[in-house]
Amino acid sequence: MADRVEAYIDQNWVRFVEELKEFMRFPSVSAQRAHDKDTRACAEWVVAQLKGLGFDAGLVDVGGQPIVRALRKGKSKKRVMIYGHYDVQPEDPVTEWQTPPFEPTVRDGTLYGRGSTDDKGQVWTHVKAVEAILKTEGELPCEVLFLLEGEEESGGDALPRYVAQAKADIKPDAIVISDSTMYDANTPAITYGLRGIVALEFILRGPAADVHSGAFGGGIANPAMVAAQILAQCVSPDGKILVPGFYDDVVPLQDWERESFRKLNFNDEAMAKELNIPRVHGEAGYSTLERLWARPTFEVNGIFGGYQGQRSKTIIPASATVKITCRLVGNQDPARVRKVVVDHIRNVCPNTVRLEINDFGASPPVLFDVNDPTIRAAQDAMRKGFGHDTTFIRCGGSIPVVSTFAEYLGCPVILMGFGLDSDGPHGPNEHFSLDSFVKGTKSAAHLLRMI
Ligand SMILES: [Zn+2]
Repeated sequence: MADRVEAYIDQNWVRFVEELKEFMRFPSVSAQRAHDKDTRACAEWVVAQLKGLGFDAGLVDVGGQPIVRALRKGKSKKRVMIYGHYDVQPEDPVTEWQTPPFEPTVRDGTLYGRGSTDDKGQVWTHVKAVEAILKTEGELPCEVLFLLEGEEESGGDALPRYVAQAKADIKPDAIVISDSTMYDANTPAITYGLRGIVALEFILRGPAADVHSGAFGGGIANPAMVAAQILAQCVSPDGKILVPGFYDDVVPLQDWERESFRKLNFNDEAMAKELNIPRVHGEAGYSTLERLWARPTFEVNGIFGGYQGQRSKTIIPASATVKITCRLVGNQDPARVRKVVVDHIRNVCPNTVRLEINDFGASPPVLFDVNDPTIRAAQDAMRKGFGHDTTFIRCGGSIPVVSTFAEYLGCPVILMGFGLDSDGPHGPNEHFSLDSFVKGTKSAAHLLRMI
């Protein structure tokens, strides 16, 4: 079928990009109070755009930056919620930008500027997909609800608070998020798993102050040495986590996943070279992608205590601190993982030092069923929009809002990213390929019609 919606996008994408530039000229830096006015003005601009498309749109204020909420009915009662964010990261270091961050510029088919890929450009694909359907077919195939927040980049909690209080009113059948990346420029991907996290530290206290290693060495426990001994009992040299019960709820990798990850031909040597490390390392029996995406971790983020200055100082440190984060995978429960880790540390810690544990928060992993019809529809939509096979990938990091949605709204979340890791989100010269912008817009339109 010659696709009228795709044809409309092909005929109008140049204008879409001009509008996106207007969107990007607002320095909606949510982290900086000096930009609060710009951030609100940006939100108001988005509301006006959505009203122009016949949406019932407005700002929701629950404290913090406003949330753009816009709803338009469609042929079916099925409701697709599109989440994104209109705020951006600060622009610094300003001197490293080739063109000013808030003066969007196209060079060689690529749009440069703050927010181009994270997340204004990706939000705009959905807005223009809706326009393309409305202008060609007159009405939307399903209800579309935009929920666009203004504090994603500054860790605000306006959106989770709103979702918790308005869940009965939001009630989507599916949620679409385009705030992530494809596997590479030729491999569109749907992300179906994100790792969760547990963060804590333990402090081992010995003498009240650093003491002379000649006068006391050999006669008392050294907290830094005890820290090393405890850690050696947490992870084995071949990457296995030794904490009893740690792996209990981990969903094993399925054959199709291992096969699908293998086909991505991840290059271990290239990663080692990029990071300037001698070689990759991780849990025995798993490939690098499997380790990064589908296996939990126990990482030391920082370890300190004792003398940190030049040359040598003959002391036994008064204390040692170890900061730890564990990345979790489906179906690990953060509270349970926290408990088995803390129990293990307490069990292996000798009674020659005093142990203190501090918690720094946790968030659960998410793992969606790729056989869910809406996730399958997203795969088909992206395959059509990009003209390439679309694969399923996982992500080693966490996206807290996805956990919020999974917790309160209980429907599938489609993570359909159009960006690339190399687009420089958060850094200088952030950019978005116009080819991806157009194909992303087509994919977003296909999805609404297929879901
Ligand atoms: Zn983002």
